[in-house]
Amino acid sequence: MIKKYIRKILGINKTDAAGNNMEPDTLSPKQHGIDPVLLSNNAIRVTKTLQDAGFKAYVVGGAVRDLLLGVKPKDFDIATNATPEQVKRLFRRAFIIGKRFQIVHVMFGQDLLEVTTFRGPASGESPKDEHGRVLRDNTFGQHHEDAVRRDFTINAMYYDPATQTVLDFHGGMADIRKKILRIIGIPEARFREDPVRMLRAVRFAARLQFTIDPATAAPIAVMAPLINNVPSARVFDEMLKLLLSGQALACLKRLRSEGLHHGLLPLLDVVLEQPMGEKFITLALAATDERVKLGKPVSPGFLFASLLWHQVLEKWTAYQAAGENPIPALHLAADDVLDTQSDKLAIQRKIGSDMRDIWAMQPRFERRIGKSPYKLLEHPRLRASYDFLLLRCASGEIDAEIGAWWTSFMAADGNEREVLLTAKPRNAATPAGAAKRGASRGGRGRKKIGGSTESAQ
Ligand code: ATP
Ligand code: MG
Repeated sequence: MIKKYIRKILGINKTDAAGNNMEPDTLSPKQHGIDPVLLSNNAIRVTKTLQDAGFKAYVVGGAVRDLLLGVKPKDFDIATNATPEQVKRLFRRAFIIGKRFQIVHVMFGQDLLEVTTFRGPASGESPKDEHGRVLRDNTFGQHHEDAVRRDFTINAMYYDPATQTVLDFHGGMADIRKKILRIIGIPEARFREDPVRMLRAVRFAARLQFTIDPATAAPIAVMAPLINNVPSARVFDEMLKLLLSGQALACLKRLRSEGLHHGLLPLLDVVLEQPMGEKFITLALAATDERVKLGKPVSPGFLFASLLWHQVLEKWTAYQAAGENPIPALHLAADDVLDTQSDKLAIQRKIGSDMRDIWAMQPRFERRIGKSPYKLLEHPRLRASYDFLLLRCASGEIDAEIGAWWTSFMAADGNEREVLLTAKPRNAATPAGAAKRGASRGGRGRKKIGGSTESAQ
């Protein structure tokens, strides 16, 4: 205690052989200001059970960061020195997950808490790919080692609900106060070990409105292409987190302002370069952010369908220009875009099929005659596809009249619908480039749209 006090006065902390801080700053409630009301009862239950059994246990990571920022965490991760087997024995509904590094899912009703045993640092012997990405580092470790292998200083703090103290190994509290996102350790090395940390840096900075520390930000532009070596399923998960953060638009703006959207987010390279595509995506993400903020569900299928629409549109137009009929051309375009993307991002099958449905519905909104609009009303994807249609109108891609017509048609009763149908709506939904060509082909294109649409149901 006295030694620690002297070290503190002298400004030196005890470090291990690798130079990592071994003794954290201990912050009292007065110093950290966490409101205990924001803590979940289940998080308290898990830490208490572990502590009563003689183990160390803390709330860790994003939850502590959010608590310090006065935000109610959306989930709680727990770090402990108990092994997964020891954790599992203490809870009625606990499941060991993962093959290489095992963690425990503790369930209380629908609430899931992730309990992780302290991890050791990535050692020189950890297997790596040819670019230096660590493939496995699954050793258990000491508390201070667990802190050093976390990504950012603000994500490496531990909260003990019993004593209401925060343990801070890397100056996270000071960075929270200064609103700085700083990686722990040498930035180049940490990004090389795991390039996904670059995406995380942008996501946290945008979401929390923090500045990325210059030393942390500097290597990102050069190292961004390393993302391409990360398994696509992981990039997809991280992208989804970014897009569902409630600050998707801010995240993308940040990526662009840092010159990061090249390589870092392959699917956006092309789209953001076109003014029309940019407008469409901006509107789509603003709508998504709004839904997230209101706590409404957001469909990943809708989100990715929006992000990739202008790529589909370009190919759709090209296939039609090459003589393909509109509906088969749209399906070919969708196949092309989904195939290309699946190399980079493992879009899950269900999400891919949602995207395809939303795209395939678009030409059907054009057919405002006979029974077609009524059939569309019964389609399970109507709502998402209609929202998508409205985005196309708002971005200037198609005539706003068609969106307004559908808004009226959906809200109308039987008689009003008949009136709307006989009011002879204009043909307005063909993609910009194809519209002129479509017009010169007259009825031929329209007939085919109808024909193929029936078979696509
Ligand atoms: P969110 O609120 O978005 O969930 P989070 O910080 O909780 O943010 P998670 O992905 O849930 O993010 O990760 C939990 C914690 O695990 C992080 O706070 C960080 O300490 C650690 N962590 C996650 N991913 C990495 C990584 N790639 N490298 C190092 N540490 C990581
Ligand atoms: Mg989290």
